[in-house]
Amino acid sequence: MLDPKLTDEPARMAALERYDVLDTPREPSFDRITDLVRSILGVPISAISLVDTGRQWFKSRAGLDAGETSRDIAFCDHTIRQRAPMVVTDAQEDARFRDNPLVMGDPNIRSYAGIPLETPDGYNIGSLCAIDTVPREFDPGQIAILKNLAALVVEQLELRRIAERDHLTGALTRRAFLIEMNRAIALFERHQRPVSLLLFDIDHFKRINDTHGHPAGDQVIRGIARLCTSLQRPSDSLGRLGGEEFGILLPETAEEDAASAAQRFCEAIAAAEIPGPPPLCVTVSFGVAELRGDWPTGESWLAVADMALYEAKRSGRNRVAVARHGAFHAA
Ligand code: GH3
Ligand code: MG
Ligand code: MG
Repeated sequence: MLDPKLTDEPARMAALERYDVLDTPREPSFDRITDLVRSILGVPISAISLVDTGRQWFKSRAGLDAGETSRDIAFCDHTIRQRAPMVVTDAQEDARFRDNPLVMGDPNIRSYAGIPLETPDGYNIGSLCAIDTVPREFDPGQIAILKNLAALVVEQLELRRIAERDHLTGALTRRAFLIEMNRAIALFERHQRPVSLLLFDIDHFKRINDTHGHPAGDQVIRGIARLCTSLQRPSDSLGRLGGEEFGILLPETAEEDAASAAQRFCEAIAAAEIPGPPPLCVTVSFGVAELRGDWPTGESWLAVADMALYEAKRSGRNRVAVARHGAFHAA
């Protein structure tokens, strides 16, 4: 039967990108699953392989050295083309794999069982696989266990995504945004490239709730997030840090450009009518802080931007204040 989702590569890649998981560090919850595959099935190698445009990248690997391989030699690239498990009992007897460098050399694959990692909307983003260096059969009980573990991998990815994204706006949660900030700090310490944080809070938001009700307030929060997403660069991250307070992380951006960006956001928000009902207009206040070497954590960087934001509020709202060497300046 023709299954269009198995051949729609752009939609498959979009499904993979939604998890934002490629090139992330190892995580115990995934390593536990490949460890289980090895011990239950008695194989030396197991991996969670995610199939990117030109490579397979391993979210977890047990018994494998390489962190990724090119896609054209990946067994898992065959697995994702089908719904059923893919089993190879002897790769040297299989015309598809006989000449494969992963069979002819390290890690010397001889047998393989892979279960597609199928997203809830039906796209195969990768596979959970068990690999041996000798020919072997996989019995139905072992395949059933692999299937259950593959379902756990997808559930884990789904939970990870839910924890990262705010339900109302789709922006990063405070927790995920702080992880991004800490990643930016680590990059800054290594490469000294500029990076800035914009923090903003909706002005007199309590009045919106009091006058129009909480659902209208929610609609404004959602509208502001959507507007920011449409204004920012693809490399910028938007996070919802609290009720009506957001952060925007601007990589490769020093203070002056960050202040102009904040000014642009500030003016665009003030000029916009947030679709209702009822349509509403709001203003926001911004605090801007370019990262410096003396803020070792996301929390301390946030605290500096927060002081600038407080200054913007104190000096009249609907404006930008920049944290500069312990003092604050209007942009
Ligand atoms: P300021 O200009 O000083 O920021 O004034 P404000 O009224 O915006 O600030 P304050 O922090 O006093 O009030 C924020 C309000 O936001 C209080 C809270 O009821 C409301 N709020 C927080 N989270 C949500 C939310 O998710 N939805 C809605 N509708 N309101 C929220
Ligand atoms: Mg407010
Ligand atoms: Mg607030």
